[in-house]
Amino acid sequence: MAFQLVCAKCDSVGVIMDHGELAPPSTIVRCSHCEAERGTLGELRNLAISHRRDLFDTAEPPQFN
Ligand SMILES: [Zn+2]
Repeated sequence: MAFQLVCAKCDSVGVIMDHGELAPPSTIVRCSHCEAERGTLGELRNLAISHRRDLFDTAEPPQFN
């Protein structure tokens, strides 16, 4: 299952990650608006690397090293 860049339930693009960069790739990423599961952190990282990095509402985009 591919990561949902846009929430299927509320159309929000914001996401929540409990442990940020330190989280394992299997960590579930949730919608910051309705808390629906959007995919895993590993899937999100793959998207961020292959497409764009401005996937977050936060002022400082996370680093994917
Ligand atoms: Zn949502």
